[in-house]
Amino acid sequence: MPSDAIPLFDGLSLDAWEGADAWTVSDGVATVGGGAIRTKQAFGDCQLHVEFRTPSPATGSGQGRGNSGVFLMGLYEIQVLDSFEDGTAGPLTYPDGQCGALYKQRPPMVNACRPPGQWQSYDILFTRPRFAEDGSQEQSGRVSVLQNGISIHADTEILGPTAWHRPPQPMAHADALPIMIQDHGNPVQFRSIWIRPLEPLVPTETPRPVFEQ
Ligand code: MG
Repeated sequence: MPSDAIPLFDGLSLDAWEGADAWTVSDGVATVGGGAIRTKQAFGDCQLHVEFRTPSPATGSGQGRGNSGVFLMGLYEIQVLDSFEDGTAGPLTYPDGQCGALYKQRPPMVNACRPPGQWQSYDILFTRPRFAEDGSQEQSGRVSVLQNGISIHADTEILGPTAWHRPPQPMAHADALPIMIQDHGNPVQFRSIWIRPLEPLVPTETPRPVFEQ
C-alpha cells in the first residue's frame, strides 16, 4: 500500500465501513453477508485498490455466480462476478454484466478473470462527473481499471449511475460520496482495500519561462 493511501480494509477490521456488522472477518479476509457496506468517509476522484475472490467451488450461474460489486461514489458499479471461462461453457452472462464491466454500460475490453477461489485485484482510477450549479452535467465521469494488472477500461466514459432496468442518464450529486461494496447474496471475499483521494491539485508553481524557438 502506498504511504499516502487510506486503508479501507487491512485484513483486521471493517471499522472504515458502515453496515458491516453481519460481514465476517477472519484470517485477513472479509466475507460478504447481511447487506452492502459503505465507507464512513466520502470520496470523489480517487485511485482505489480492491482484492477479491469469488466462491470456490463455484455455485449458481449468470448473475448469481460470485456477484458483488464496487460502487464508486455508491453509484457507479464495477462488477464483481465469477466470469472465468474455462473453455467448456458458453458465455456465463451478458457482456456488460460480466466481471469488470461498468455494469450495464460497458463490458471490459478483455476477460482478465482468474478462476473462482483465486485472489484477483482491481486498480481503479476514477474521475467523478462535474455538475453546474443548475445540476446539468458539465463533464462526464471517467474510469480506468486494471484487473490483475491488465487494462480492462481505459478512460471509459460513465454515462450515469448504474441502473439495471433502464438506460443510464446523468444525475447531479455531491462532490464526495461513500464507496459501496454490494451484497448480491453470494459469499464473495475481500482482502486489501485502499484508496488515494485524487482531487486535482491547485497549481502553486511559478509558471515556467517560455523559450523562443
Ligand atoms: Mg454486482
